Amino acid sequence: MSVTLKIFDNNKVIMVFIKKFKKSEEFEKIKSFINNKNAKKIALQLPEGLKTQSREIIDSITDLDCDVLLFADPCFGACDIPEDSAKQLNCDVIIHFAHSKYLKNIKIPILYVEYRTDNNKEIIETLTKNISKLKEYSSIGLITTLQHINSLDNVKEILEKNNIKTYIGKPKLATYKGQILGCDQSSAKDITEKVECFLYIGSGLFHPLGVARDQDKPVWILDIEKKELNHLKKEYEKYYTKIILKKAKFDIAQNIGLLVSTKNGQMDKNIKPIKTKLEALGKKVYVLVMNHISYDKMEGIGIDFLINTACPRLEEDLTFDRPLLNWNTLKQYL
Ligand code: SF4
Repeated sequence: MSVTLKIFDNNKVIMVFIKKFKKSEEFEKIKSFINNKNAKKIALQLPEGLKTQSREIIDSITDLDCDVLLFADPCFGACDIPEDSAKQLNCDVIIHFAHSKYLKNIKIPILYVEYRTDNNKEIIETLTKNISKLKEYSSIGLITTLQHINSLDNVKEILEKNNIKTYIGKPKLATYKGQILGCDQSSAKDITEKVECFLYIGSGLFHPLGVARDQDKPVWILDIEKKELNHLKKEYEKYYTKIILKKAKFDIAQNIGLLVSTKNGQMDKNIKPIKTKLEALGKKVYVLVMNHISYDKMEGIGIDFLINTACPRLEEDLTFDRPLLNWNTLKQYL
């Protein structure tokens, strides 16, 4: 059976590979995990980009003499593990595709089938071609997302051959050195004192913008899709302007919706101090609890401004006719 795996990031296909799923390394890992755990009932989670292949994946796992339950709600990331529902449905294990370990102490055995891209060649070519842009730095911190983590050693080698010292920091929540998530940029913070700038390997602006916002250092992007090496300055200025405009709207807002997610890795269980702080600013605060936060669930509530305590990506993704800021962003301006 031939399977095409398409992984989406920012709604674009960033990786396509075709292989015999049953002959793949991933399938071997799944097989030994199921055998080791003696699992008979499997909770399966796939990213949206893999849904079109879900029947092939389910059939392959079912052939191992297992029942497979596809948890078909949109899966945000490894912060979004349905451990309680899987337990209620008597699943023995969870198999989660496309992300690395994030949550500790999950109540049910879980296998993360991670994904990586195979574009080292393009990364090396793009960096080599543009290396002169980085010559003014003597120390650079490397950051990336899970799919490009294998390229860090090659990037380090090229920079060091060009007499640029490189540092790769240790994350708190993410799994690998140098890995960043929207909600965990601690691998950048870990080395910020040692470096003159950061080099982000990947595509999209969400992750590097977070680093530019929180670390007072220039951020460069080795853009895998465009095959370019660019400074983030202009994009950061646009982002910063947007934040300042939203802050001005917050200042005049009266009724605030404080968004709390029930997803296990996104849930802020300690919102009382946030609520108290907002109330001290003269705001009326309504706590809105949802699993999947979406516009339709808030229609008609009559809120002027939303403050998000769940996945930071909502700040850029959520389409709502009210302004929204992440609490972690807003609190820096209060
Ligand atoms: S950035 Fe959002 S989706 Fe990704 S792990 Fe963090 S909370 Fe989850």
